Amino acid sequence: MVIGKHRPSRIVVDQTAIYQNIANEKARLTDKTELFMVVKANAYGHGLLQVAATALRAGATGFCVAILDEALALREAGFNQPILVLGITEPQYAALLAVNHISATVGSLTWLKTAQGFLENEHVTTPLAVHLGLDTGMGRIGFQTSTQLAAAVAYLQTAEQFTFEGIFTHFSKADSADTEYFEQQLKKWRVFMAVVPDRPKYVHVSNTATSLWHDACNGNLIRFGVGGYGLNPSGVELEPPFVLHPAMRLESRAVFVKALKAGQSVSYGATYTAQEDEWVATVPIGYADGYRRQLQGFHVLVDGQYCEIIGRICMDQLMIRLPHEYPVGTLVTLVGEDHGQTISLQEIADYCGTIHYEIACGFSERLPRFYQN
Ligand SMILES: *Cc1c(COP(=O)(O)O)cnc(C)c1O
Repeated sequence: MVIGKHRPSRIVVDQTAIYQNIANEKARLTDKTELFMVVKANAYGHGLLQVAATALRAGATGFCVAILDEALALREAGFNQPILVLGITEPQYAALLAVNHISATVGSLTWLKTAQGFLENEHVTTPLAVHLGLDTGMGRIGFQTSTQLAAAVAYLQTAEQFTFEGIFTHFSKADSADTEYFEQQLKKWRVFMAVVPDRPKYVHVSNTATSLWHDACNGNLIRFGVGGYGLNPSGVELEPPFVLHPAMRLESRAVFVKALKAGQSVSYGATYTAQEDEWVATVPIGYADGYRRQLQGFHVLVDGQYCEIIGRICMDQLMIRLPHEYPVGTLVTLVGEDHGQTISLQEIADYCGTIHYEIACGFSERLPRFYQN
């Protein structure tokens, strides 16, 4: 992917914010509970390697990723902490997982048997660490019944190719004021766990939302994701127990400024026509950068003032209406603070009818990431 190094559009990540969010959460945990930072999807768009380093400084002791390649990227960069791949890795990569000391999520006995075949064929001597994933109601991956789980646990006791390192589940409604479904999942979790006589090293159920609002069930590990980036997993529904500091800023600069005459139109489809004479700036960012086309009519900040995005957002450029003439090179804030005003990822997500997770990880690789302490 080509990175736009010679263009003023960029993401600026506040590493102190990430540090504080993690440290504040760590301070709420008992001594026995570890925190693995979830750095999947380029650390929710914030940059895998930099976030990983900051997380360790803040007290994280390992990482969760979504796919094997993300784990390998961490290993290649020299991170030797525990890494759990949260998604299902195809069993033909069992050897690659094992030799790199990357832990796999397992949701069926079939997976274990197939992976064992690959490990044997490839004469792998390093055991593969596995975390058994239990489907208590998320309905995505994981063992469906206690019977299936018991069979896998028994299998692990005899198969020397594996280390039974962890067991976990994932809640689908831990971010809601309505706790009924959460309680149901918790009940199922307890039923599952009744057939696991010997607890593995890691027993974990908490994503950010669970760790913030249901910390009694944390176990000895939490998988801390979105909260680390300073975003509230519930959106605006629930108050977090401590202030979350958003880490992501998105900014650019005006590259072209013009006076638009009343009656002149802007961008594809000519959907915007000036009602009076006005000043317009062109900003070099568009939907190819993950700045969504639905954001037409939303606003950015210039000199502490909200400026409307006028006309269609193009692939690589968008236009804004200025309150008066500003020079080329004027700073444009798309996410973050400017002269006391802010635009949050939450507001952008609301405008697009989605969640901030999707906006954050949707900013493309073309946007360079800069880091500040
Ligand atoms: C993504 C993910 C997390 C982290 O979720 P947050 O809401 O960002 O804290 C934790 N566990 C699993 C299984 C996940 O897929």
